[in-house]
Amino acid sequence: MIEKVFPSGDLLQLAGEGFKLTSLVVGPLLTNCYILTCGDHEALVIDPGGDAEAIIESLRRSGLQVRYILATHAHFDHVGAIKALQDAFEGETLLHRADLPLLENLVAQGASFGIRPGPVPRVDRFVEEGELLSLGRANDRIQVIHTPGHSPGGISFVALGMAFVGDTLFAGSIGRTDLPGGCHQVLLDSIRRKLLSLEDRVLVFPGHGEVTTIGQERKTNPFLREGDG
Ligand SMILES: [Zn+2]
Ligand SMILES: [Zn+2]
Repeated sequence: MIEKVFPSGDLLQLAGEGFKLTSLVVGPLLTNCYILTCGDHEALVIDPGGDAEAIIESLRRSGLQVRYILATHAHFDHVGAIKALQDAFEGETLLHRADLPLLENLVAQGASFGIRPGPVPRVDRFVEEGELLSLGRANDRIQVIHTPGHSPGGISFVALGMAFVGDTLFAGSIGRTDLPGGCHQVLLDSIRRKLLSLEDRVLVFPGHGEVTTIGQERKTNPFLREGDG
């Protein structure tokens, strides 16, 4: 298990206000789980896909309460530790409605990868395109964007000069679309209309792999060349 801590100073120039982002690589598919705080003791946890004890330990060590558990989509490698987090903390679990069938099919999803996923967690609220979430000083500044294609209910979260994009966009690549509900054209459309419309300097935190920026992907991502798709 790898843990990287980005001190708030590093990202301050992009954000214009204080926050701290912790990234943990969890589970068998090395999913990036992000813990974001904005100046108080409430955390937003994105994609707790596995290694529940490590995520809980990281939150406890920092003295954090959970305000939101956000799943960018309901693939087992992004939701596997949600139930354990729900048992350990208060907080609201948010998902896009179109991924509910995937969540309810967690066991079958895991089986196709030879993995027994964690129990199916409850969803407290379905979120929609354009919805704004609050966290500490980021009052009403965390925006939900519907970015389907990798899965029907894929969502991204944009806040403070950062975009958490799940398996929609990766450094130098894009999400796979051969899983149930996936569609390549829909994915390209989501990336082009919803993500590439963000400023070049926006940091992109994908569901797997390295951090990148919108500008870097716009310039060099081979799947996003003009005229393709
Ligand atoms: Zn996925
Ligand atoms: Zn994934």
